[in-house]
Amino acid sequence: MFDVLIIGSGVMGMSVARNLKHHKLNIGIIDRDIDGMHASYKAGGMLGAQNEFSKDSPTYRLALESQQYFKQLSDQLLSEVGCDIEYKETGLIKLAYKAQDNNKVIAQHNFLSRVNPDVRLLEQQEAHRLTGNNLNIEEIMALYIPNDHQINANKYTKALYQSLKVNNIERIQHTEVLAIKKGKGIYKVMTNKGDYYAPKVVVAGGAWSHKLVQAQLKDRQLTGVKGEVILMEQEGLGLQSTIFMTNGCYLVPKNKNRVLIGATSYFDDYSVGVSQRGVDWLINSATHHIPKLKYARKLKEWSGVRPHIANEIPIMDEVDEGLFVITGHYRNGILLSPIVGELMSKWMLTNIKPQILNDFTVKGCVLNGSHD
Ligand SMILES: Cc1cc2nc3c(=O)[nH]c(=O)nc-3n(C[C@H](O)[C@H](O)[C@H](O)COP(=O)(O)OP(=O)(O)OC[C@H]3O[C@@H](n4cnc5c(N)ncnc54)[C@H](O)[C@@H]3O)c2cc1C
Repeated sequence: MFDVLIIGSGVMGMSVARNLKHHKLNIGIIDRDIDGMHASYKAGGMLGAQNEFSKDSPTYRLALESQQYFKQLSDQLLSEVGCDIEYKETGLIKLAYKAQDNNKVIAQHNFLSRVNPDVRLLEQQEAHRLTGNNLNIEEIMALYIPNDHQINANKYTKALYQSLKVNNIERIQHTEVLAIKKGKGIYKVMTNKGDYYAPKVVVAGGAWSHKLVQAQLKDRQLTGVKGEVILMEQEGLGLQSTIFMTNGCYLVPKNKNRVLIGATSYFDDYSVGVSQRGVDWLINSATHHIPKLKYARKLKEWSGVRPHIANEIPIMDEVDEGLFVITGHYRNGILLSPIVGELMSKWMLTNIKPQILNDFTVKGCVLNGSHD
């Protein structure tokens, strides 16, 4: 019998496990480990706490706080498991894809610059400096967000996994959870390889979480949004900052002359693999403003499924006594994972719900603000 059993070893499940590790609890974490049928290993790694928001909301405030954890977390993971998650202070340029999107960039500037005076509309000269002379913004608006940084999401997810290993958290791999049954104060977690028991269970199954807690999530529509990504290599491109365009395409400069280009969005699509249509859209969007990328070499492509929830208010809640659900972090799960891990583990250890989580209930109610 476990003290806490976590279903799903994406960044959410693993962040909770990592935060619980010092408390002498017997923790298990189960995953079916099917490549492509998850999100965390596949993400772009942007820590876009400001990029993602144009008005105040509890998620925005949580994202800003979580963003602050990464510098220290990257040092901790390096010393704990020897893995560099490639935290880079690259900043981010929010760019109108076409001139008719200029008003969106201006509206976002008006909101963000009130809170953070470092956020500013870019002049051509600075745009050249940040993009290796590649970006021409004569007719389009560009907003510079100097503190929306990035990590390597694949390495971060692997580092969390290694951290569970060195901390002797039991990893139950290649095992699919089929159902959760409530007994007298104990949950039976039924899998394709036998049953496990625990008084506290965390469902952190990403875009598949609703299948395990259907009754509790019946009022919240959780769906998978498939995203495709390509990794390109281009000598001397000189891109220093992430570029995020209003059509949803982004370019994240990575090590060794590499650029990660993401991501398509197909709603209610749980399929695995990258389509030609997706690659064409990514390349056309990326080269629209950075034509030099036409000469780049494609190194890799992959897909993942983001957990999207209607009204985009993620769930971090206890849906029955001892049964916790963490899902719906959509495009910001990497960014939000450190603070979610900390808050949820605190709740489980103390049986006192952190007040900030009142905004993220399974009912989707908003107590302290408005959401996008
Ligand atoms: C292409 C792409 C780009 C993204 N870019 C960014 C970004 O730049 N910044 C950012 O912050 N976020 C980004 N995201 C979003 C982020 O990746 C997700 O929000 C986050 O990874 C969700 O984490 P999770 O732990 O909830 O889900 P997942 O990572 O999907 O983990 C859930 C786990 O549960 C397991 N599971 C599910 N059901 C069962 C079951 N029945 N039995 C056993 N195991 C089960 C799955 O195998 C999986 O490993 C991106 C996502 C994608 C796809």
